[in-house]
Amino acid sequence: MPIFFPAVSRPIFFLCSIRSPSPRFFSSMSNSVNPSKPRLRGVVFDMDGTLTVPVIDFPAMYRAVLGEDEYVSIRKQSPSGIDILHHIESWSPDRQRKAYQIIADYEKQGLDRLQIMPGASELCGFLDARSIRRGLITRNVKDAVDLFHLRFGITFAPALSREFRPYKPDPAPLLHICSTWNIQPNEVMMIGDSLKDDVACGKRAGAFTCLLDQTGRYNSPEYKHVEFQPDYKITSLDEVVKLLEDDFDLAP
Ligand SMILES: [Mg+2]
Repeated sequence: MPIFFPAVSRPIFFLCSIRSPSPRFFSSMSNSVNPSKPRLRGVVFDMDGTLTVPVIDFPAMYRAVLGEDEYVSIRKQSPSGIDILHHIESWSPDRQRKAYQIIADYEKQGLDRLQIMPGASELCGFLDARSIRRGLITRNVKDAVDLFHLRFGITFAPALSREFRPYKPDPAPLLHICSTWNIQPNEVMMIGDSLKDDVACGKRAGAFTCLLDQTGRYNSPEYKHVEFQPDYKITSLDEVVKLLEDDFDLAP
């Protein structure tokens, strides 16, 4: 069961924002780093809708799994989005099996049409040139991650898929990556297109968070008071290089 923290209202920092470094940041500084900016040593990406162009029709998938009435009722209770995997965990094994099959079918259709997100390979090239680590956390299956690595020739390590439990929005996968890298969560940025999964996971872990909102859907008033707000909001991955250079000391 995920832990929910009390709602906090925090400003969203845009490209020109300055953020105060935390005490832990100072303790991890080396002599060569710039003390006016927080150190960033790793970036962790969501996959679907962040590194890849969204091809899965999630509302249609939720409707197919839940049925129209349950879908409408759950959507009302959770305006920031439906956690379908968590929702079906309490179902009977038979009903769960059918649900997983529907989800797998939608994901398979998505894989067939998989495309890399504009700006993703340039951003990865930038991170590699600066020796900044790249990780991946997805609620999709390992096969989808393997296909992504194979098809686009960009590898993320660690790359944690749905098989790693508990998955996002739990902070566990991000904390696992930080411990594998042997760096602090506040030296990492989580980038994703989901407020309820990626931003929540990142904030719970204590990382910087960046929400990719291509269409501006998160500008809607219904998201104004959700419990976790991102540190940064962007409409394209093309914005990330400048953001990182302006606001962070990129010191691997
Ligand atoms: Mg996503």
